Amino acid sequence: MTGPVYRGRFAPSPTGLLHAGSLATAVGSYLEARTRGGEWLLRIEDLDTARQMPGAADAILSTLESFGFEWDGEVVYQSGRHALYQDALAQLAMQGHAYPCACTRQQIAAHAQRGIEGYVYPGTCRAGLPAGVAGRAWRLHVPEGAVAFVDGLQGHYAQDLSREIGDFVLKRADGFWAYQLAVVVDDAAQGISDVVRGADLLVSTPRQIALMQALNLAVPRYVHLPLLVNDAGEKLSKQTLAPAINRHHAAAELALALARLGHTPPESGMDLASLWQWARANWSLSRVPAGPVLVSDGA
Ligand code: GLU
Repeated sequence: MTGPVYRGRFAPSPTGLLHAGSLATAVGSYLEARTRGGEWLLRIEDLDTARQMPGAADAILSTLESFGFEWDGEVVYQSGRHALYQDALAQLAMQGHAYPCACTRQQIAAHAQRGIEGYVYPGTCRAGLPAGVAGRAWRLHVPEGAVAFVDGLQGHYAQDLSREIGDFVLKRADGFWAYQLAVVVDDAAQGISDVVRGADLLVSTPRQIALMQALNLAVPRYVHLPLLVNDAGEKLSKQTLAPAINRHHAAAELALALARLGHTPPESGMDLASLWQWARANWSLSRVPAGPVLVSDGA
């Protein structure tokens, strides 16, 4: 049996309630999947228990339901999938792609250059740990040279991981699985063909592609949707105190999300069902702006 040609997903972290930014991402990934006759899966990325807000996962699901999103299959929770991540790490270690690292943050800061995201790990532990020294974290030995891909909206994007990122963490010193490993394992295990998510994750994509290549997994297509930013140019997020969306005003919130994605509904005051119907009939990625979308504070 072959899977569907298109299988997308929405993968919120339950660190807070849905806000305008995460709603726009959900709307864009949902419409891409549905207008291509594809499936749309939901995955709750609840690995980092320290950053979670109690009740957020259920609140996200019920908000999505009240907006009329329909997902395929059971919701997947990363917190129940440790064995899968462990297997992937074991495979990487066995094949020489992953190694234990004993460095502390302070040691790295003392020796490393800054890259696009924090320090570029200088590879101190790559050749193995001295006898009696225990590893704290696990890292991927990244390939030399550019990892490039063509994003469906942002176009060509490339990084030289060894110079710009360094060997990155797969399992953290505090025992948590790193986002990069979990997302790659899950996208593959769930047979995701198309990843549609926020542009803040564009910078992570070359790492994920390198990991997939090391694990011999098929690389999905990617679309990174524009970020919604506030007047200060900051991404709407829990940290920037973006207000939770009001599920009792779902039609108005959906109309706004569509407009921010370049799809202004033809009339104001349309109800939820008519909005979805119109959006499904009119959705086109070519109308979605690639760059950040300003959401004025209080608007
Ligand atoms: N869980 C991530 C977030 O909420 C998204 C992961 C992804 O779409 O790859 O930012």
